[in-house]
Formats: sequence, C-alpha cells, structure tokens
Amino acid sequence: MLVMTEEILRQIQEQAEAAYPDECCGALIGSFASGREREARLILPIDNARESGERYHRFVITPEDFIRAERAARAKGLDVIGFYHSHPDHPAVPSDYDREYALPVYSYVITAAAKGKAGASASWLLRADRSAFEAEEIRTCSHR
Ligand SMILES: [Zn+2]
Repeated sequence: MLVMTEEILRQIQEQAEAAYPDECCGALIGSFASGREREARLILPIDNARESGERYHRFVITPEDFIRAERAARAKGLDVIGFYHSHPDHPAVPSDYDREYALPVYSYVITAAAKGKAGASASWLLRADRSAFEAEEIRTCSHR
C-alpha cells in the first residue's frame, strides 16, 4: 500500500496536465514503513531526458537524476520510495517499456492524462522475478 496526502496526488496530476502531450516524471520521496506499506511525503519533479520526439510515450530518469533524488531524500532523512510518470492519452497501466526499466523495490505511480486532463492514478509494484507488475493500492489522507 502506498500512502500519500491528497495534496501530493494533486501535485502529480497537475504535472501530468502541465507536461501534456509529453510525459512528466519524478521521484516519490518518503519512507518504507512496515511490510509492504510505504508513505510518499513529497515529490521531486525530474526533467524528462528523452529526446523531444519521444517524450510523449517515454521517459528516462538518468543516473544523475537518480543520485540527485537520493541526496534530496537523505537530506530530509527519507528515501526514494518510487517514481511517478504520466501516460498522455493512455490508461494508467505500465507499458512493456516501463517494466523493462523498473526495479522491484519501488512504487511506480502512473497518472493517465487524456486530452490534457489528469484522470486515474494507479500505483504498481514489479514482481521480484520482473515478470509483471502488480497493482498497489494508493491510500490518500487529507493531512499528516
Ligand atoms: Zn509508462
């Protein structure tokens, strides 16, 4: 289960709309609580490093972005717990490309943005054998 405030989810959705028709992406920073529950405390937007003609359906997080996110998290005593990106005019379901670049420890939040309007957000966890994603419940709270 991924826990976050409604405010954080709203920020992700606003970025999905602002980036449309490209994909937005960023890191989820927070803490791994007990078991499979984790909490996103803030988000760190990352510039989509794909060449401009590909940004509508691909996003890339470079090693430098990854290190920057790790440092930002650690400075607050937190961890990178996952990543988010948008799917312009596609459902909030991971693509084969997403699976290829994902790691089993992280939560992957995908927000659909149909015609520039943010729709459903879903979170996904990669199986340890990397064969498929499994849906992870998102629980929002109004405060923390
Ligand atoms: Zn994707």
